[in-house]
Amino acid sequence: MGAFLDKPKTEKYNESKNGGGLRYGLSSMQGWRIEMEDAHSAIIGIPDQKETVCWFAVFDGHAGSRVSAHCAHHLLDCIRTNDDFTCSLQQEHTLPTEEMQKGIQNGILKGFLELDEKLRESPEVASGEDKSGTTAVCALITDKFLTLANCGDSRGVFCVNGKPALVTQDHKPSNEPERARIQNAGGTVMIQRVNGSLAVSRALGDFEYKNVEGKGPTEQLVSPEPEFFVKERTDEDEFLVLACDGVWDVMTNQDICDFISARLKVNDNLETVCNEVIDTCLHKGSRDNMSIIIIAFPAAPKVDPEAVKADKELDALLEKKITEFVAQDNEVELSQVTQYLMDEDIKGLPQGGGLYAKKVFIEEVYKKLLPEKYESTQEECPNPLASLLFANAKNAALEDN
Ligand code: MN
Repeated sequence: MGAFLDKPKTEKYNESKNGGGLRYGLSSMQGWRIEMEDAHSAIIGIPDQKETVCWFAVFDGHAGSRVSAHCAHHLLDCIRTNDDFTCSLQQEHTLPTEEMQKGIQNGILKGFLELDEKLRESPEVASGEDKSGTTAVCALITDKFLTLANCGDSRGVFCVNGKPALVTQDHKPSNEPERARIQNAGGTVMIQRVNGSLAVSRALGDFEYKNVEGKGPTEQLVSPEPEFFVKERTDEDEFLVLACDGVWDVMTNQDICDFISARLKVNDNLETVCNEVIDTCLHKGSRDNMSIIIIAFPAAPKVDPEAVKADKELDALLEKKITEFVAQDNEVELSQVTQYLMDEDIKGLPQGGGLYAKKVFIEEVYKKLLPEKYESTQEECPNPLASLLFANAKNAALEDN
């Protein structure tokens, strides 16, 4: 699925805002993929509600970007127009919890189903011209609750006291309830994909997988039904992360909690921290589009002078080691520098990111020391996979001798 570029597109889209008692930052990057199919929405103070009612969502599109972009623009509106949703929210402080949650979840579910139904009737989809689909991971934050609604394999992770305290479940075709629905609709799960083709079992769009007669919208091969995960808010809540699988492919839930906690102690700019996560994922080997939103609650880690000092010392140590290594051989390649640093087993690297989190810095230092060598390798071997194969071939040749 999806072809790759010769060189990743590392330019990032950034956005951030404070309000409603929290702040968010987001970053998205095309990476190695030929198309950018991710989309997102971030709204502090949704229409007709208090400023403290916030909505965030990440959409990871596939087979095109039409459905993901459409969701980013219209999903919240489809949800908001349900009285269930609006009334329950407005009465958060008076309704019993269960009733309020039921109203909210019903409203969100209806919104998902309505959007999907309308989408199916749009001319591009009806004609078969557009076959795209998207996952959706959404967060509704109110005074008392965090409600996550997930459809597909993007993921939300809520970090409290440095640990994942609420995590959405990925909808993979091989998960038991998903497999059962697929088989009941007459489909199969092969190579962990729906009918051997689609790697997610729930999504908006993907109407090729939603044509089984006699089955309702949530009983099809691919279902647009979100699954809910709810947690009551406390004073210990630190931050919520919504991200697409491009991030989760190379980061565990604990890695993300560790890494973001560590970086928030060095830098309070959420856009910068989001960018650092994405760059780290790229260097850990993610080949996908990447999008991340970090929503920081009042108890999120704060900049700590000790951590800032330690980070500066770490950069200085890396720079010293690279300078010494390059001084021995000024024909040395960047990949050899990285390998050397890996072997050095340097202490104090950011938790959850390791040396990958310093790859941008290492590259800057190398570029400063060997500008011509750096430029020439950029042209010669733009594809790191190619350069890896090249390096392996060279090693093999050396061993043969
Ligand atoms: Mn993806």
